[in-house]
Order: sequence, then C-alpha cells, then structure tokens
Amino acid sequence: MATNVSDKGAAAVRMRGVRKAFGDNVVLDDLDLDVEPGERVVIIGPSGSGKTTILRVCMTLERPDDGTVQVGDRQLYHDERGGQLRPAGEKHIRSVRSDIGMVFQHFNLFPHMSALENIMLAPVKVHGRSKDEARERAMALLDKVGLAHAANQTPGQLSGGQKQRVAIARSLATEPAVMLFDEVTSALDPELVGEVLNVLRDIAEEGSTTMMLVTHEMGFASEVADRVVMFDQGRILESGPPSQVLRDPQEQRTKDFLGAVF
Ligand code: ADP
Repeated sequence: MATNVSDKGAAAVRMRGVRKAFGDNVVLDDLDLDVEPGERVVIIGPSGSGKTTILRVCMTLERPDDGTVQVGDRQLYHDERGGQLRPAGEKHIRSVRSDIGMVFQHFNLFPHMSALENIMLAPVKVHGRSKDEARERAMALLDKVGLAHAANQTPGQLSGGQKQRVAIARSLATEPAVMLFDEVTSALDPELVGEVLNVLRDIAEEGSTTMMLVTHEMGFASEVADRVVMFDQGRILESGPPSQVLRDPQEQRTKDFLGAVF
C-alpha cells in the first residue's frame, strides 16, 4: 500500500491527525494525508465516508476537532487555550482561501450575473485586480472551458454542464495552487457529464495545479489520478496508483465498493 504521508519537501496539502465528529458521528478519524504539488489525488469511497468533509476542512469551511492542516506553508487552524482548534484569523483564512479553489456539486453561481461577471468577481473584489485585467483573464478562461460564446449569458440561460464549466473557470480565476472538486458531475444529466470531465482532464494535463477530486466516475479517475485514495468510515482504507487501487484492490471493502459502482 502506498503511504499517504511524504518525507519529501513542502507538500501542497498536509494533514496530520485530523479528527472531525458531528455529535457522536466520527466523520474523520485521525487522518493523515499529504498531497504533493501538482499531484492529482482522487478520493473514492461509500456515501457518508467523509470525502466531502475532508475537502471542506481543506477549504476552511469545516473546522476539525483535532489535528493540523497545512496548505502550502500555511497552517489553517491553530490551538486555542482549552485545546480547541480555531481558524487562524479571518484575514489569514481569506488568504488561504485565495490559494484554494473549490468546485461544488451544485454550481453556486450568482444567478443575476453573467458568466463573465461571475468569473471576474473574486479577482476584482478579493484580489484587487483591475476590471480590464480580470475581464481579459475571465475571457481566456471561458475560452478554455469552451464557453467564450456564452460570456454574457446568465446561469439561467445555461445548461447544467455549461454552468459547471463556468464554475470551474471561476475557481481558476484566482490562480489557486490547489483545486478541490466535490462530485462536480453528479448533479448533471448523463449526457452533460463528458463535457465537464473533458475540462477537468485539460486542467489535469496541464499539470501545474494540485487537484483533489471526489468522484464516482471511475473511468475518469483511472485516467487522471496519480493516486487513488479509498475512504471508509473516516479513514483511508487503501491508497495507491489507479492500476493498484482500482484494478487490484487489496481490501475487501474496496472490492465491494468498486463492485457496486463499476
Ligand atoms: P461523503 O462525502 O463521503 O458522502 P460526507 O463528508 O458528506 O461524506 O459526510 C460524512 C458524514 O458526516 C455523513 O454521515 C454526514 O451525514 C455527516 N455530516 C456531514 N456534514 C454534516 C453536518 N454539517 N452536520 C451533521 N452531520 C454532517
């Protein structure tokens, strides 16, 4: 089994002893995970195994009860008196979030803004870019996701696949070092899944963005992943290259899970 922790230089994401419970429900259980810069890690596992929670912890949307989470050289949470973990300050959190992009299952676009305006918003409001610069970059990103022609359309005028491609372009607009994708195709009609996976493939092929993806698209996972991590009950059950975890899993629960989804 490949190890989930690394002794190499600075990881893009480093988690140690991360624990998160909702009431009695322990969702992340003493989790250690490193993601190397530029690495593409696909997280798989049964519903409820903690996959979304781990991405939300990285995005500072969910505070762990214990452990450390580091993105680049920044610690996301710090110990307060009494041992409670706190997000490390509003300003700090904003700067961490600007290093990370997250794309959700439901696109979360602003419905009253055009595709272009949705993409320009964070670079202008959060990063202080000029409107001209932000517009130019947003148009380049729309072109990249095959939607240059839809720049002035609002989300209501776009298909689900198009909305998700705009959401991906939007999250790339701040040039995050780490991108988190949480089941970004699972709310789409089947015929729209391919166009979104193609965009993800393009980003993966460029190789410069660290990617953590939760997906049930196993064919896609085996194509783009450097490493597949199988979650089960808040723990990593096994992890390794797709040829190992997807084609020759060692754990019975991985075999059962893959038997159910393939
Ligand atoms: P997965 O993505 O693998 O399906 P999740 O990380 O979404 O799993 O959820 C793991 C468990 O945590 C589930 O049992 C879910 O019901 C629970 N959970 C997630 N978020 C919350 C929350 N905000 N409040 C209470 N329980 C939650």
